[in-house]
Amino acid sequence: MRCRACFVTLTITCALVSSVLMAQRGPAPDPLVRENATVKLGPHTYVIPDNNVGLVPNVGIIVGSQATLVIDPGLGRRNGETVLREVAKVSKNAALFIGTTHFHAEHTTGYIAFPASAKYVNSTTQEAEFEQGGMQMVQMFSGRSPATAEILKDAARRPAAITFEREFTLDLGGTRVRFLLVGPTHTKGDTAFFVEGDNVTIAYRWAENQTHRLPELAADLVRRRVAVIATTGGPAATQAAKVAANATIPIVFSVSQDPVELGCARLLMRKIVKNRGRQAVASRQGRDVSIGAPSGVPRAEEKDVPDGQVS
Ligand SMILES: [Zn+2]
Repeated sequence: MRCRACFVTLTITCALVSSVLMAQRGPAPDPLVRENATVKLGPHTYVIPDNNVGLVPNVGIIVGSQATLVIDPGLGRRNGETVLREVAKVSKNAALFIGTTHFHAEHTTGYIAFPASAKYVNSTTQEAEFEQGGMQMVQMFSGRSPATAEILKDAARRPAAITFEREFTLDLGGTRVRFLLVGPTHTKGDTAFFVEGDNVTIAYRWAENQTHRLPELAADLVRRRVAVIATTGGPAATQAAKVAANATIPIVFSVSQDPVELGCARLLMRKIVKNRGRQAVASRQGRDVSIGAPSGVPRAEEKDVPDGQVS
């Protein structure tokens, strides 16, 4: 029942994430939504990335001129409070709506931190699923660690204020969000969200800890003609995206090893810039960036010097 966002599909930016690919080293980090990490994806669309931490979802924030929608408010009250602080940084709207990709606890129970005036919009299918098994999942997750138990100590079901069967359109003022029941895939009530105008779709996909399913999921993203695929789940997810995209779609990825040696890239940008007397050097691994004048690094010219490109 391990559950972590595996594929977040965005027409602008696509995340291809697989928890199965994340080798656990040492104890798992506490399931906390990261503070000050909100990223803007479109004119109205923001996301708080999961940072590859188990039981942390990718949180979507859609901001209209009149109201704001939060998608997947995190695990329990503490994370819901973090999400609300992040929302306040990008929105001054008093009117709040909540949506959830599916009923599992880390995607829903943060909603108890939201004010009573916030309106939860949910499909009747997801409503029934939480009613039948939501609190069982809360109890199961509470057994994982003392920190998780503390976060979930007052978790409870929040019934939806607005329900729909298969599709619902929410007008936030200046932008509309379409809720689409797309399950059953991970759960019966899987829901995707399309932000009109921003051309962004937020959806949840999971390879069910089966790496052989990654190519199929990546191929589906390619068929949907997404603009970019971002993989944050490790080399296998990146490889699956690379093969499926066949050099037709850019892939953004983050790995801790050398991507050329892993076969994720043929060449890698090596860039030396001179900026007000300082030099910044991005290493081949793309992870070590040093500021200053590292030894052995030739003095840069007054312009950027690309030695190669990511493929
Ligand atoms: Zn789940």
